[in-house]
Amino acid sequence: MSDIIFDLIEKEYQRQLNGIELIASENFVSQDVLRAMGSCLPINMLKDTRRQDITVCEVVDEVEQLAIDRLKELFGAAFANVQPHSGAQANAAVFLACLQPGDAILGFDLSHGGHLSHGSPVNYSGKVYTPYFYGVEEETGLIDMDKVAEKARAHQPKLIICGASAYARDWDYARFRAIADEVGALLLADIAHPAGLIATGLLNDPMQHCHIITSTTHKTLRGPRGGIIMMGQNFDNPWGRVTSKGSPIKMSAILNSGVFPGMQGGPLEHVIASKAVAFAEALQPSFKEYGKKVIENAAVMAQAFMDMGYKVISGGTSNHLMLIDLRSKNINGKLAEEALGKADITVNKNMVPFDTASPMVTSGIRVGTAAITSRGLGKNECLQIVEWMDSVVRHHDDETYLSNLKQDVKQMMAAFPLPGRATVEA
Ligand SMILES: *Cc1c(COP(=O)(O)O)cnc(C)c1O
Repeated sequence: MSDIIFDLIEKEYQRQLNGIELIASENFVSQDVLRAMGSCLPINMLKDTRRQDITVCEVVDEVEQLAIDRLKELFGAAFANVQPHSGAQANAAVFLACLQPGDAILGFDLSHGGHLSHGSPVNYSGKVYTPYFYGVEEETGLIDMDKVAEKARAHQPKLIICGASAYARDWDYARFRAIADEVGALLLADIAHPAGLIATGLLNDPMQHCHIITSTTHKTLRGPRGGIIMMGQNFDNPWGRVTSKGSPIKMSAILNSGVFPGMQGGPLEHVIASKAVAFAEALQPSFKEYGKKVIENAAVMAQAFMDMGYKVISGGTSNHLMLIDLRSKNINGKLAEEALGKADITVNKNMVPFDTASPMVTSGIRVGTAAITSRGLGKNECLQIVEWMDSVVRHHDDETYLSNLKQDVKQMMAAFPLPGRATVEA
């Protein structure tokens, strides 16, 4: 096969192999997860609608049911939908199912680490609904729950969202629920980032408190790119409403129809199969060991940054990521991201709370350990990486320095193979 696309795939494989991946939302999946994604399952969707081929459908139904069952087991959920194409689609389906256009929603401030799909003015969620935000305190970098309660009372949201893309601390789901109950709101936890750490019991469990949970499957959960929706036990009729015939209005049915036909057409059956493989992997004891190492590595890096005089927002991390304010080092997020990239160390520039720079420049970087831990890096490598990153900050305009460092990076990473390899040659 001589299609240039396959050359580009190989080029991307080499990039992944040689570099240090510190983007907090990235991870490396197993060969089995990749294998399922490259399978024949999508062909099922080409079936002739005039002549429904029941046999073909039965197979993918079985795949999907296995994905649902494994996901429910993994999180102790009573309900799961595995069809959302992505985390943003999962949120969209929930909003569509639970809200009317114009309804107030209360989410985590985007400039403090929240996600676009929680009410950003550039996202459908900020255009169709009326978004309000809570944030962190400037001194502590932590969410003040009394202020969340004040915002909820003031704006009477129909939906409160907890969850973020760049918050290094755990969430008080019980307190969020008390606030939601007080104002009669539904509570959604978007656990896209920490899902793998929650599944293994390493962080607080939203399932007991939040009416609805959404997540991606590709961040700490270490599956294919995709989204999921879940509900805990006894949440299927949060309003206590009944139909005209007296039967309870089921939240699960409303959520399912929010996904299809509300948001999407046909499901991505190969991705659902791949999700099922990833859920089975996450149910293994080794996945909890992985999660522990992710958290340990992040703690080591955060401490090392602080020892070198960097400001880490909230003074450290409780999960897989940290947010670093670079203002005391006289470099902005954009320049740092570019210079680190030249040494094959990949991070995101990121707004820090109360940032004085524009979103295109930013004053910070976000660093995560999910991907490097999947390759087997440990404490010593993490300390080495922080030293290298600090040296890049100091030599960010020295091209020779950066390209020499790139060789050191490559040499270190050669000892840590990628767990899975993209499609092998036929
Ligand atoms: C990454 C992320 C999403 C979006 O996931 P996609 O699969 O990229 O759509 C949604 N919410 C949060 C909090 C995220 O971090």
